[in-house]
Amino acid sequence: MRLALLGAPGSGKGTQAMLLEAKYGFVHISTGHILRKNLREKTELGLRAKPFMQEGELVPNDIVVEMVKERLSHDDAVAGFLMDGFPRDILQAEAFERILDEMGRPLDVVVLLKIDDELVVKRLTNRRTCRACGKILNLLGLHAGAKFCPDCGGGLYHRDDDSEPVIRNRIEVYREHSEPLAGWYEARGLLRTVEVEEYYMPEDTFRRIEAALDL
Ligand code: AMP
Repeated sequence: MRLALLGAPGSGKGTQAMLLEAKYGFVHISTGHILRKNLREKTELGLRAKPFMQEGELVPNDIVVEMVKERLSHDDAVAGFLMDGFPRDILQAEAFERILDEMGRPLDVVVLLKIDDELVVKRLTNRRTCRACGKILNLLGLHAGAKFCPDCGGGLYHRDDDSEPVIRNRIEVYREHSEPLAGWYEARGLLRTVEVEEYYMPEDTFRRIEAALDL
């Protein structure tokens, strides 16, 4: 299956992508993850992307589109993929469509995770990620006070761009650039919408995604 996950920052795209990958073996491609890896390794791409990421702005399209094209050329993406965090605007969606058409592998479905803005702020200020296995935790619920990953014991960190002013900017950027994607994909008959509710566990949203995808 060729699938893209859309949704505001903090809507749970990364968590849901990891659950889908674990259960169905989808190849998970996260542009945010690839960019953060480049940042850590101080590659030329990482150095170019850094000022945009620090402010919660979109990294320029030429960088991101090339990065996605390169990633899709790997053998593991031939059978299908799960795109997380891309496309982020209509120009990226158009470029994505062209790349996939050239490969003769169009998208099958797009899932939009719909969430309230204030819930996004609450979730992101309390979000922690495991340095070792990448698991994403929320300190508001089951994992209150956690210092280490419950799965592998790795240390947890708070992403630099999860501070409140940067979160607010990321929401603005989402509204302006990414929200119009829902209509764009709706017009192509590819969109499925899943509501994310405040007291949901990730497994509740996951079940809704499975139902939306007829899995
Ligand atoms: P994410 O992990 O998806 O929340 O992305 C973290 C940051 O990486 C974003 O705030 C952007 O600065 C950058 N980024 C990730 N994906 C994209 C994309 N498709 N286009 C532009 N910038 C992106």
